[in-house]
Order: sequence, then C-alpha cells, then structure tokens
Amino acid sequence: MRLINKVILITGSGSGIGRSTALLFAREGATVIVNDLDEAKGIETLKYIQDAGGMGHFIHADVTNPESVMLMIDQIIKKYGQIDVLFNNAGISGVGALHEIEPDTWDRVIQVNIRGVYLSSKYVLPHMMKRKSGNIINMSSCVAEIGLARRASYSATKGAVLALTKSMQVDYASYNIRVNAILPGTILTPFVENYLVSSYDDRESAMASIKKRQLSEELGTPEDVAQAALFLASDESKFMMGSPLYIDGGATFGKNA
Ligand code: NAP
Repeated sequence: MRLINKVILITGSGSGIGRSTALLFAREGATVIVNDLDEAKGIETLKYIQDAGGMGHFIHADVTNPESVMLMIDQIIKKYGQIDVLFNNAGISGVGALHEIEPDTWDRVIQVNIRGVYLSSKYVLPHMMKRKSGNIINMSSCVAEIGLARRASYSATKGAVLALTKSMQVDYASYNIRVNAILPGTILTPFVENYLVSSYDDRESAMASIKKRQLSEELGTPEDVAQAALFLASDESKFMMGSPLYIDGGATFGKNA
C-alpha cells in the first residue's frame, strides 16, 4: 500500500491512462477522486474501484471551465479536507499539420491540454500551499521532445505542459510541493484507437508505422503509464522535482538505425 491515506484527484479518469491509474492508485490505498467530462465513463471507473474494494468518488467537471473546476475542488475539500496529489491527465488529441488545422480545433486542443492543467492546478494549489504539502503530476508526451508528423497543435500543448511543469516546480518548491511530468510514447487507449482510424488507411499499416518510431516491439499499455504515475505519486520519488519521466519504449532517446 504505497498511497495509504492520500486523497488523489485524477482528471480525465473515465478512460485510458486515467482510468488505469485510478484503479492502481485505489489498490494502493488512495481515495481516488475520478473526474471526467463523460459522466457514464467516470461512473464506470468509480464502479470498478468500488467493486475491487477501493475508495473513490466521481465528480463530473470540465477542466476548461473555471466555475466547474472551482466547484469540484470545493466539493473535495469539504468532503475530504485535503488533496494530496493532483494528476492533470485529461487531454485530447489534435491531428493535422499547422496549415490543416481549423482555428476552432486549435483552440480546443489548447483549452483542454493547457488551460485544463492551469485551472485544475490554480484551484488546488492554495490548499496544498496552506498545508505545505502537495504533489502535482502533469501529463505531457514525448512529442514535447521529438517532432512527429501532423501533430502541430498537440505537440505545442505538450511542450507547453513540460515547460509549465518546470516553472511551477520553482514557484512551489518552498511550499513542499513537487511538480513532475510524465511523457508517454504511444499507449494503446481509446484516444490512440481514434487516431489510428483518423490518420491511417488501415489499422495494420498504422501499427507498423507507430512501431517504427520506437524500440519496443509492443505499444505501451495504460498500466505502463499508471505504474510510472504511482512512482511519482508516492513518497519514493521524493527527490524528483520538475522532472520529465519518459514511458515511451525508446521513442525519444533510442535509435535503431
Ligand atoms: P483517453 O482515453 O481519451 O482519456 C482522456 C479522458 O479525458 C477522456 O475520458 C476524456 O473524456 C477526458 N476529457 C477530455 N476533455 C476533458 C475535459 N475538458 N474535462 C475533463 N475530462 C476531459 O486518452 P488517454 O490516451 O488515456 O490520454 C490521457 C492523457 O495522456 C492525455 O492528456 C493525453 O494527451 C496523454 N497522452 C496519451 C498518449 C497515448 O498514446 N495514449 C501518449 C502521450 C500522452 P471524453 O472522452 O469525453 O473526451
């Protein structure tokens, strides 16, 4: 039990990496606050947690909306009195080279992937600062470090999240708050399943092309990322501050040729 007595908010945990992390954190003794825009999926995650004997709570909120985020944080503080860990996981993809992206799509990707991290952190931080204790994990991506075709808006947001992580760490270190980032490679989730369909002619050539950009024979799983998040959320990573943690099958630093 590596997260006993911790209250942990995971945004976008109705699906994919967020859901796997929620289930793992609950197994490790945390009380997990499941958040998602999709109510049915969020409630389903909560049910999986409770069926496995874990503790949790679902709150429907849109991380791009300040009132919605404020209400969510108030509700958590009223019920549990604290938030030990915030995992800013909610995110959406944006496919297209820069000239192909419509302004509305660009804005939405920026809103969810950057404004979402900003707003959730903004309303959680005062509570962490008051307690002089906190831990924030921001979801970036290895596309913050490597160029990837037709990912302009998405890459811009994930690069911003990595830069923001470092800046936040400097500002809040004196409050005993750690801020680190996770940089996954390609992880097989509904998010990637959609992108396989929207970006390639068929699934087989999509998988072959993705595998070419990493060293591992397999794509990553949501559990691979959840394990990394567990390390960052636990006190075992207490000397990690403002750091990127890569979970990418060698996509960023490995080269086969
Ligand atoms: P996913 O399966 O699509 O899960 C993301 C969840 O976030 C969805 O349930 C989504 O709900 C929710 N969400 C979207 N907008 C939201 C909002 N405004 N407020 C609250 N929740 C919202 O995606 P995933 O693959 O697990 O990705 C999770 C995170 O990891 C994202 O930040 C993504 O960029 C990052 N990441 C993923 C990969 C990968 O290969 N999968 C790689 C690197 C980084 P809806 O379904 O209603 O939109």
